[in-house]
Amino acid sequence: MTQAELFERAKKVSPGGVHSPVRSFRSVGGNPVFFKRAEGAYLYDTDNKEYVDFCLSFGPLILGHRDPEIEEVVRETIGLAWTFGACEPYSLELAEFIVEEIPWVEKIRFVSSGTEAVMSALRVARAATGRDKILKFDGCYHGHSDALLVKSGSGLAGEASSDSAGIGKSQLQDTLVLPLNDEVAVDKLFAEHGKSISCLIIEPLPANYGLLIQRKEYIEKICKIAKSHGALVLFDEVISGFRVGMKGMGEHFDIKPDLVTYGKIIGGGFPVGAYAGSKELMDLVAPSGPVYQAGTLSGNPIGMRAGLAVLKKMKRDNLYESLNVRTKKFTDELKSILNEKGNASWDISTFTSIFWAHKQTQSPIRTIDEIPAGHKEGFAKLFHSLLKEGVYLAPSGYEVGFFSHAHNDNITTKVLEKVRKALKDN
Ligand SMILES: *Cc1c(COP(=O)(O)O)cnc(C)c1O
Repeated sequence: MTQAELFERAKKVSPGGVHSPVRSFRSVGGNPVFFKRAEGAYLYDTDNKEYVDFCLSFGPLILGHRDPEIEEVVRETIGLAWTFGACEPYSLELAEFIVEEIPWVEKIRFVSSGTEAVMSALRVARAATGRDKILKFDGCYHGHSDALLVKSGSGLAGEASSDSAGIGKSQLQDTLVLPLNDEVAVDKLFAEHGKSISCLIIEPLPANYGLLIQRKEYIEKICKIAKSHGALVLFDEVISGFRVGMKGMGEHFDIKPDLVTYGKIIGGGFPVGAYAGSKELMDLVAPSGPVYQAGTLSGNPIGMRAGLAVLKKMKRDNLYESLNVRTKKFTDELKSILNEKGNASWDISTFTSIFWAHKQTQSPIRTIDEIPAGHKEGFAKLFHSLLKEGVYLAPSGYEVGFFSHAHNDNITTKVLEKVRKALKDN
């Protein structure tokens, strides 16, 4: 069965042939690759072609695919139980590890995805403040729940319009949206709506619409404004948590969020999300408090033990430091190769082990409006020329690239050669 035949079959039984839209390659054109196996930094498609993976399942795989140490834990756990729907020590161990590591996490609740984590954390914020509205920012992604699938409206500042069909108007009325990197707009909005805003939710490192690295002063200022109006600050660290470092962006900015959400790395490659915060806030959650939230597979033992094994290994071997150094070295070299032909003038925004390629700009790209025109098309061309050589980037110019512990110097040297060849053939 060829890849094209598999895609035809998939399209017959699933919308667009996929179970999450970006996977369809719609953004870059062409047919998606069907993979059958993965190991370390590598993916293998159904025709046995090998690719170096920089998508890494969109972020969870900080150690690469099937790290042998983690795989052993997974195999052992499968032999113990698959799910209990009851109390067990595995979620306890992961919770204790995180509470020990992260000062603003006193209590944590595990769920099964980032979307669920954010939905639930917002419920806590509303319950804690008795207020209904939330403020989010254009260019930040917080999962696909109704009230968050919004963008700036065309009318009044702060007004939201839906970013998907099927979302009722009433779902939007409590979501306010502002552009990133504009503290004055936040000040104005709070002056007007301050008493009804339960929380400000932000990706402290926006990495779902390119990599929009924010200024420290901006993040500090908007958190201060929110708190001064009695609103909570929710850091959505589903992508940055345990990626930029063990304590996430809260540590980088030296800001204690009231609530924080996790996903991706926290489950070590299995479906886990979490929301967390102070004892007072988290004790609002059932059964201690009145905020209902539950999950059949929550605290799944395989995800709990895989996640804990990943975090412990990152800490024990001090892997964040080496990962960040190697990412920087790789992206610097990649950038110089991309610009060798002299006609492209690529730049690569990098933060720890996250990177994003785009055309050079006068100043750092911090808002979605600053993404250069033609970005999507330019990326699609780069994507396909690299794909041909066996380098797999996330199939959209608005997704970031990830580096993993498995991407050792041998592999990156080979990748850089492949990139050079890809550009020559182009
Ligand atoms: C990935 C992501 C989500 C959604 O998580 P899912 O597990 O895909 O539901 C939410 N917020 C951020 C910041 C993310 O990166």
